[in-house]
Amino acid sequence: MNNEEKWEKYRNLLREIPQISCNIKIMQDRGIDTLPLEHKLEIKQGELMKMSRECRHSNSSSNKESGLLIVVSAPSGTGKTTICKKMMEIIPDLRFSVSYTTRTPRQGEEHGKDYYFIDEAEFRRKVTEGEFAEWAENYGHLYGTSFVEVKRLLDNKIDILLDVDPRGAKSLKEKYPDGIFVFVLPPSIDVLEARLRGRGSEKDDMLRMRLNKAMDEMREALWYDYVIVNERIEDSLDALRSIYIAEKCKRKQVPRLLQAVLKNRR
Ligand code: ADP
Ligand code: 5GP
Repeated sequence: MNNEEKWEKYRNLLREIPQISCNIKIMQDRGIDTLPLEHKLEIKQGELMKMSRECRHSNSSSNKESGLLIVVSAPSGTGKTTICKKMMEIIPDLRFSVSYTTRTPRQGEEHGKDYYFIDEAEFRRKVTEGEFAEWAENYGHLYGTSFVEVKRLLDNKIDILLDVDPRGAKSLKEKYPDGIFVFVLPPSIDVLEARLRGRGSEKDDMLRMRLNKAMDEMREALWYDYVIVNERIEDSLDALRSIYIAEKCKRKQVPRLLQAVLKNRR
């Protein structure tokens, strides 16, 4: 059996047990016997583990057509939530990837729309079970991106927008090298502070913490694909929309575009 055949067989086997996803370690932790899988594949335990890991964290877009993954990062208070929300309104085909967090909801935030608000025990369980594509601690709270959700959307060719901090963005870049990484900067530190204060969501000590972290985070802007300075919200939205449109027209999208054109041929 060559490697490609082995993969095909592996994927077929996993379709038989979709409810358990494809993490061999989790299956074993839950007392599920993975020996039949090994036997059917005629491979050793170590190789099965490796395939399971690769399968869970593989970026399907490099092998087959997938949705676009757009990651937006910015120091807290810059305006990235505002920009992302408006972007979702003007590009209906784009889906927001809802993260999990242990922080409490701000006024107006909804469970399942802005975040999945869960407690720390549940978050830690998800970490242990390998449910996150990435996760990080920010200002004393935990934040994570659901691996299964991202994979499901991308595999269904749905473009997704993620709002994650630079650490999370860096892990995502390793797993999704075809992703588009956008950093939003505030016009100045004074403006950033004014926006944070204006939002009124943080007490003074938390506000200081967010401002201090902003300095470190801004240095990360250097490795992103695009940088937007959020002066006027309309201009920032224009910039993000232009990035999205340009990426949709990239050469690597040609097979998809051609397919769509030729499909309608009589
Ligand atoms: P982030 O998600 O980056 O933490 P928010 O989107 O919550 O930031 O924005 C922080 C505050 O700044 C909010 O009160 C928002 O209304 C305001 N804001 C965002 N963008 C702008 C802008 N371009 N000009 C003025 N105020 C803005
Ligand atoms: P906030 O509490 O202001 O909504 O978010 C705080 C920080 O957490 C922001 O920098 C935001 O981008 C980041 N964040 C939100 N969701 C995620 C996530 O799923 N993963 C990571 N690593 N960071 C996230």
